[in-house]
Amino acid sequence: MYGPGRYVPDPTEGIVNIKDLPEPQRGFYHRDHQQTPCPRCRQLASRHKGDHRPFHDLGDVATGRPVDLLVSYSSHHCSTCKKYFNIALSDLAPPGSHYTHRVIDLAVRVVVAEGLPYRPASWHLWRDHRVFVPFATIQNWVEAGGKKGAGSHPRRVSGVGT
Ligand SMILES: [Zn+2]
Repeated sequence: MYGPGRYVPDPTEGIVNIKDLPEPQRGFYHRDHQQTPCPRCRQLASRHKGDHRPFHDLGDVATGRPVDLLVSYSSHHCSTCKKYFNIALSDLAPPGSHYTHRVIDLAVRVVVAEGLPYRPASWHLWRDHRVFVPFATIQNWVEAGGKKGAGSHPRRVSGVGT
């Protein structure tokens, strides 16, 4: 029902209320495993239950709609440590983040490499990538760049604030 068509002016230009933006499409990602290594002792821990959480991902340029990635994941119980934990999602998104790494990486790149100020960067992300990120959120990411990300997802942002 959607698809590439003739060019029409962006109907979202000038929208300031996020509720007025097009409804997101759903993407699905499954990381629900029967076993996964315990982060403490590395022994395989059995699945305890499953849950899911949404992440804002890069949007669908063809349909012009944003994409919310619904990630189903397993939580596990380590019988050695007697602890519950969720399967690692840190390669998809930082802990506690509502956005995927690739949104964050792109936003930081737009500001740092292309030199866009935060507000135009926010609009650029929406216009060209159909992901809505408040400019203050982008600012947080850029200012945090280089300080975090020392873990499994190296992300170097050099020259920020210099
Ligand atoms: Zn353990």
